[in-house]
This record gives sequence, C-alpha cells and structure tokens, in this order.
Amino acid sequence: ASGVAPGTRNIPKTRYRDVGGMRDTIALVREAVELPITHPELFERLGIRPHRGILFHGPPGTGKTLLARAAANESGAHFIAVSGPEILNKFWGQSEAKLRSIFAEARAKAPSIVLFDEIDSFASARDSMSESFEATLVSQLLSLMDGMNDLGRVCVIATTNRPSALDPALRRPGRFDHEVEIGLPDPESRLHILSIHARDMPTAPELDLKEIARHTEGYSGADLEALCREAALACMRRTVDLTDLDRRVTNHELSSLSVTTYDFRNA
Ligand code: ATP
Repeated sequence: ASGVAPGTRNIPKTRYRDVGGMRDTIALVREAVELPITHPELFERLGIRPHRGILFHGPPGTGKTLLARAAANESGAHFIAVSGPEILNKFWGQSEAKLRSIFAEARAKAPSIVLFDEIDSFASARDSMSESFEATLVSQLLSLMDGMNDLGRVCVIATTNRPSALDPALRRPGRFDHEVEIGLPDPESRLHILSIHARDMPTAPELDLKEIARHTEGYSGADLEALCREAALACMRRTVDLTDLDRRVTNHELSSLSVTTYDFRNA
C-alpha cells in the first residue's frame, strides 16, 4: 500500500555466499535484521520489539557494507546506503531534509534496510569541529529513529571503525542498541574469502590458497580481494605479450592464462 511501483525498489545482488568467513556473524545478522522483516509475527507473538538500529563495528574493509547488502538481498528489502561523510559535506545545509527524505523513502518502500556508512563522521562525541551542526544532525537522526513505528519493516544499520568515538546517545536502548563486531579474518576465513574472489579465475592445480591464507595475517577482506586482482594481473603480464596492444590476444594465450602461487607472491 506504499503506492511505489515494485520495480523501483533497490535490492542488492550480493548474497551471503559472497561473504567469506563470517558464519557466526551471518547467523547473528539473520536473526537481528532478516527475521523481523520476514517473520514479524514471531516478534508480535512473543511481545518483543525488534531492534531499531544495529551497529556494525570493525576495521575498514572487513565486509560491513557487504554484509548489510547481503542481508537486504536475502530478506528482499529495499536498500538505501547513506554515506556519513556525504551527508555531512555534499548535503551541507540540506542534511536534515536529506535525512528526513531517507526515512520517508524507507517507510514508503518497506521492508527496507537503511545503511549509514561511517556514522562516526557526523556522530562522533569527541569531534568538536562544527559541533553544533553535527549535534543537530545526531539529534535529528535519533528523533527520526524514535519516531519509527513500523519496527521490523525498517531496519537501520550503521557502520563505524571507531565505536568508542560515537556519541553515547546513539547507543542507548531503542537506538543502535545491538552491536555486531566484524573483525579481521582468521586464516580459515581468509581462505574462504580468497576462494570467493578467485572463483572465476583460471587457477593452476598447484595454486595453494591455504598457504596464501596463512601468509596474509592482518589482511582485511578488501585487501584479499585486491590481492586476488593483483595476482591475476601478474599472471596476465607473465603470460601475454603486452607490447603490441593493437593485435588480438590469441586463443592460445587465453587458454594459457593460469594463476599460480608465484603470481600471488608477486602480486
Ligand atoms: P569500510 O569500513 O572501509 O566501509 P567495510 O567493512 O564496509 O569497509 P566493505 O566495503 O564491505 O568493507 O568491503 C569492501 C570489499 O572488500 C567488498 O566489496 C568485498 O569485495 C571485499 N570484502 C570485504 N570483506 C569480505 C568478506 N568477508 N568476504 C568477501 N569479500 C569481502
């Protein structure tokens, strides 16, 4: 009854199977985000309210945005991604109107997931620069969240690398009162992430992703994705003569492309 044509809903293509090494985290997110959208009757029957806001925190590039997109896909929710810095800078002067229109859109196209990326950019407690303007934005966000009465149908997710820097008002009950930590991947998770990003590559039988996973301590999912891309490019440089770009790449060259452990080491 929203009056919005179904075709205009934005449902991301990302699936949980595109998210590597987060089995437990995915289970948490399914319960907190997906379940209220797909099975509101459970919450109603139990007499509890789903979380209004969920905070994903962890280092950069660990898949926080990816996971929010996958949750939207799997629950068939309209997805609105809002960049914190953009709200602050691009919509300078219109930030409050922008926030209101985001919530109106989420309601109109519910079920919806709204993602505030890098929320600390405007909701940081210690940042004293243009404090009053940011404080206004935070209180407006809070009042928009407090006013959400279609709980479950609209889920707000915020991401941050610095949860401790957030305005404590944001983390009170009824706001972003559920936190999901998304840390750097362990070796097993790194192997899973590597295999996701290498799944469409022609790889040599000897390629040992396990070994790569062991040697990439401290890498985020985004770092591992970049590593796979660099390894593929290293393979290309090694296999194809790139001095004459006017000629066609031969079928022989195409079929010789095979990414090896060596390419990963040279990436
Ligand atoms: P930031 O805090 O910098 O916004 P983020 O945690 O939101 O980072 P994403 O933007 O989700 O990270 O990750 C960037 C890209 O890295 C993703 O689009 C994906 O390709 C890859 N990536 C990150 N984590 C994973 C993962 N767990 N599995 C598969 N790919 C991943």
